[in-house]
Amino acid sequence: MNGVRRGRVVIVGAGIAGLSLAQRLDQHGWRVVVVERAPGPRPQGYMIDFFGPGYDAAERMGLGPRLRELGHHFTEASLVDEHGRERASISFARFAEALGGELVSIMRPDLERALRESLPDRVEVRHSTSPEAVTDDGRVVRVRLTGGEVLEADLLVGADGVHSTVRRLVFGEEEGYLRHLGFHTGAFTFEDARVHAATRGSFRLTDSLGAQMGLYALEGDRVAAFTVHRSRDTRLPGDPREALRAACSGLGWVVPRALELCPEPERVYYDHVAQVEMERWSRGRTVLVGDACQAVSLLAGQGASMGVGGSFVLGEELARAGSVGEGLERFERRWRPVVEERQRVARRGTSWFLPTTSGRLRLRRLFLRWSALPGVDRWVATSLSGKPSRVVKDLGPVASPGS
Ligand SMILES: Cc1cc2nc3c(=O)[nH]c(=O)nc-3n(C[C@H](O)[C@H](O)[C@H](O)COP(=O)(O)OP(=O)(O)OC[C@H]3O[C@@H](n4cnc5c(N)ncnc54)[C@H](O)[C@@H]3O)c2cc1C
Repeated sequence: MNGVRRGRVVIVGAGIAGLSLAQRLDQHGWRVVVVERAPGPRPQGYMIDFFGPGYDAAERMGLGPRLRELGHHFTEASLVDEHGRERASISFARFAEALGGELVSIMRPDLERALRESLPDRVEVRHSTSPEAVTDDGRVVRVRLTGGEVLEADLLVGADGVHSTVRRLVFGEEEGYLRHLGFHTGAFTFEDARVHAATRGSFRLTDSLGAQMGLYALEGDRVAAFTVHRSRDTRLPGDPREALRAACSGLGWVVPRALELCPEPERVYYDHVAQVEMERWSRGRTVLVGDACQAVSLLAGQGASMGVGGSFVLGEELARAGSVGEGLERFERRWRPVVEERQRVARRGTSWFLPTTSGRLRLRRLFLRWSALPGVDRWVATSLSGKPSRVVKDLGPVASPGS
């Protein structure tokens, strides 16, 4: 049999990267246990524009039809002024085409749902638990969970997001790895006919300085909102609702109404916008995937895609390698250049993402209008998202789901 001896893997985090890897490693014959801190799947979330390497990987994992079924098909993203008048727009289809692929907009819980549905029953997902200590003697890695149980594995994976516990336990405190980009972000959903009508069934973003709100129209009168505002404060506010109101209430249009309908803090996502940079993604028999090691940030608009793509590449490289160590090396060699390019593009784009002067706001509008011109569309799309990557497409044949 080619590849690593298929042993037992413990994956910490049943998020996008963790569930993707669970599917891949199960397909390749590993015994998979997933450990998740939350008591169950979370219904709250935000809209994800899913394209790029993760889209290619999802297709190869057999998930494409389900994602398109659960997804929302918006035609365009528009910038609007404080009265809701459109100033510029970009076509989603054109944007994805310029990047050589397709795009589906999907709520994060629905992406997780599609991934969970793809797991056979033999994949064990344990909720309400978290790692407390990790030891690795070179032959086996042991993870002590809250409650005291110790799991032994051939491989431990930290897929537990930007504030990863596995990273802290194995590589050290997060300050050493987090690069704050100077923004805070929030996201929530609510129902309101007036705000829904104002989105005109699509995605609208305020064309504003220092803070912005984006609104996506969902089914019925549901709306998904996300906000970004500049802040150098690396602490999180006690009450995210208050922080969002303070940052965004002057944006005009239907934003005050959306802020009024912002739910209780437990149902609001709020965090710094940060990237994760590490010299190595693995140590011994522990490896990190997804935001835990490679967060590109909200500014790149493709962290989820990179989470699925990276997990896919790791699964395939482990299947092809002669040892865990070799698989981890090959994974990093193949995948790191894609991550680093996306991170660079996102950092370069901070003033484009949320302009600080009215001159830059005007430039952003022009930029979007140019995107309608043949030839320029590709330049605009790659300036925003990085060069299209063939890494996933170029990997050879893979095990199919259900095999
Ligand atoms: C507002 C917003 C908009 C975004 N828009 C896009 C977009 O348009 N396109 C896109 O591709 N990406 C987007 N992203 C980025 C994307 O959501 C993330 O990059 C992606 O979710 C990362 O996946 P992950 O699985 O690595 O981490 P996460 O999604 O953070 O999942 C980590 C999982 O680990 C669990 N966990 C954490 N700690 C522990 C622990 N100690 N023990 C056990 N379990 C634990 C968590 O509960 C969670 O289930 C957006 C992000 C935000 C905030």
